[in-house]
Amino acid sequence: MAETMTFPKTVRVDLGDRSYDILIGDNLLASAGTHLAPLVKQKRVFVLTDGTVGGLYAGALEDSLRGAGLAMHLKAVSDGEGSKSWGTLGEVLDWLLAEGAGRDDVLVALGGGIVGDLTGLAASLMKRGMKFVQVPTTLLAQVDSSVGGKTAVNASQGKNLIGAFYQPQLVLADTSVLSTLPERERLAGYAEIVKYALIDDPDFFEWLEQNGARVVALEPDALAHAVAVSCASKARIVSQDERESGVRALLNLGHTFGHALEAANGFKPSLLHGEAVAMGMALALRYSVRLGLMTGQDSERASKLLDSAGLVTHLNCLPGGPYPADTLVEAMKQDKKVRAGRVPLILARGLGRAFIQPDADLSDVRDFLDKELQ
Ligand code: NAD
Ligand code: MG
Repeated sequence: MAETMTFPKTVRVDLGDRSYDILIGDNLLASAGTHLAPLVKQKRVFVLTDGTVGGLYAGALEDSLRGAGLAMHLKAVSDGEGSKSWGTLGEVLDWLLAEGAGRDDVLVALGGGIVGDLTGLAASLMKRGMKFVQVPTTLLAQVDSSVGGKTAVNASQGKNLIGAFYQPQLVLADTSVLSTLPERERLAGYAEIVKYALIDDPDFFEWLEQNGARVVALEPDALAHAVAVSCASKARIVSQDERESGVRALLNLGHTFGHALEAANGFKPSLLHGEAVAMGMALALRYSVRLGLMTGQDSERASKLLDSAGLVTHLNCLPGGPYPADTLVEAMKQDKKVRAGRVPLILARGLGRAFIQPDADLSDVRDFLDKELQ
């Protein structure tokens, strides 16, 4: 059979007996069956997707599985955050039980972070844990949500409040599927790529200054490199601190401000998570400048990298606004990372030199945000 030759990059997530590989490459969906077959006992695979992604890619996945002698049992949930719910989780579990799925079966998440988070939680609960594989189809899911084992659904009290740490057995990041991703979603994922550079990788920051436009344009080599560096960065951090008791908090760079912006906008699709994170990173760096921790020049370089891709770094230009300082500070106090009234912020001493400041001075932050709005 003539199958396109692919040479995926491999990133290992080192977590003892829960270690796994992330494969990254063009056209990986075509060889998914080959990669999944060793994980499967019975000749079948369960796949959860959403309406859009299922319509685009479930056929290709099924062909590949069939080529490896595996049957596909498919369920599609509705697109959107509404599917990360207790109700949908119950439907997925009922479906798996009705189909007779067992602990040795594999449940595949074919989709973005919403499908990935829902699938991972369902897999963790099904008969106390069935095998789970991520096939992330958004840039955000390829560089962030499919790696690291955080799974969740939302509650009426807030996002991601019901969840588990549950690692997949394999991640297959096929970069060619990103060609159908809407541009805003693509940029939202790019913001998380820039985040890894800003946390601890000044060389990657410089590489993005030179090549970021090629990543955003989905040029295969540049894209695969950026996804692989991002996954390696997340893997490195997660393997040091799987359950976020320390260094994993660095991954929240831009996220305390970002979540406050999303919350102030009621988590509506007019402001995507990655768009809020891009703005949040620009704010965290400018706030670091205000505290005398880094130079204005460095912070400007970071904003320029985000701006040049098309991400907004000025609060007054951000969709969904206005965002009054008081509203944002109140939202920061509600963040689920707050402990005993202390609001942690990720700040930076330079490009690629982020650190955890465990107790932000919120009246100073409020004053800073007020000035940002002028
Ligand atoms: P998403 O899953 O909603 O996908 C965005 C949209 O793009 C959807 O409408 C989807 O149908 C569509 N889509 C997906 N792939 C496509 C493709 N290849 N072509 C065309 N359309 C496609 O959004 P997302 O940004 O991937 O994920 C957001 C979710 O991820 C949030 O719920 C967030 O909480 C979660 N998240 C989790 C983690 C984690 O560590 N678990 C980290 C970050 C974010
Ligand atoms: Mg994020």
